[in-house]
Amino acid sequence: MIRIIKNSKCPKILTTKGADQTKKDCDDYDAKRKLSKSKRSIYASTAVKQTLVRAHYSKCCYCEQKFTASRDLAVEHFRPKSGVKQTRGQKEMKPGYYWLAYDWNNLLLSCDECNSTYKDTLFPVATKYRARSHHGNINRERPLFVHPVLQDPRDHIRFHDDEPFHITEIGRVTIEEIGLRRSGLREAKLKLIKRLRFYCKVIIEAEKHPRSRRLQRLATGAKEFLREATLPDAEFSSMAQDLLSGWSI
Ligand SMILES: [Zn+2]
Repeated sequence: MIRIIKNSKCPKILTTKGADQTKKDCDDYDAKRKLSKSKRSIYASTAVKQTLVRAHYSKCCYCEQKFTASRDLAVEHFRPKSGVKQTRGQKEMKPGYYWLAYDWNNLLLSCDECNSTYKDTLFPVATKYRARSHHGNINRERPLFVHPVLQDPRDHIRFHDDEPFHITEIGRVTIEEIGLRRSGLREAKLKLIKRLRFYCKVIIEAEKHPRSRRLQRLATGAKEFLREATLPDAEFSSMAQDLLSGWSI
């Protein structure tokens, strides 16, 4: 996970249609009326998705896989909108954080697997207190998932080779519950590590043979590849940063 910086302003649809729908949902809750299903056409509108894609460098905010034609992107509600669970085995509590369904601070971007298969409506908090309606106060909660906009994930999760490890309790819960050690991810990460190691060897060889123009040329390309692998828009860049920080290149 890397830090996400939402430089762009909140998309207008959230402060217009989203705000209207939130008011209606809160009124329905107070009047004990059934809450309507959150509207995808608002929270996952093109304007919202495009703004999120830019801020997230086209990557899942949890596993850092790049979005491709075959890997869809999902607008992720950090606090689940329709229901919530403290633990995976627990029965889902209804309603969820309905009043945050169109809240810009609650919207992230993730892959389907992190969003639906793993996180789903799970949202553990370390506090006894949990806001159960729009009359509650979410600032009294201490979520056990890393919020990549409000926190720097690098303070909570680091890597030994492809393996993420936790520095804090919220790092541990995030790794375990969002499946950041899953085999599908491991395979893709190991492929990248193989390439990174190969380019490191090229650089070391070039240092041993300073007169070889061919090796010097290859080393220039290798250094560029390694540099780009650590940039925030690169797939698995947090892993690459940790790997390369331990290598002398
Ligand atoms: Zn993901």
